[in-house]
Amino acid sequence: MAKGKSILQHCAHCERTTKMEVIGPVENQPEKTWYRCTRCRHAALIDMAALRQELETAQRKPERADCLEYKPGNSYQIGEAIFHVEWGIGKVVSKERTSGGDKAIVVAFEKLGERRLLENVAAEAEP
Ligand SMILES: [Zn+2]
Repeated sequence: MAKGKSILQHCAHCERTTKMEVIGPVENQPEKTWYRCTRCRHAALIDMAALRQELETAQRKPERADCLEYKPGNSYQIGEAIFHVEWGIGKVVSKERTSGGDKAIVVAFEKLGERRLLENVAAEAEP
């Protein structure tokens, strides 16, 4: 492994994705490596096998059958694949609130790019 190599990884301490630099390998566990968060300087043991698995799962294109049908009344998690009747298959990349205080998901659609959709909308809007 090259010296000074760093990766982007979620830091449990910072609770965000940060740049981590390699500290060193773990004896007898070739797939595990110690990394140090460049932000908070906390060390984290990262399992490269699990990481690779995660990456493969993330890169795998979702099939229609894997997707949850988008309905405004439902709520969704980041990383979930959804199917929108007009826009097709997409993946939830983040969650936010609209200026009106409604919950929204940002979905990256295969063909259209990112679109915002409301979630958790009450079936009957209050008058
Ligand atoms: Zn950190």
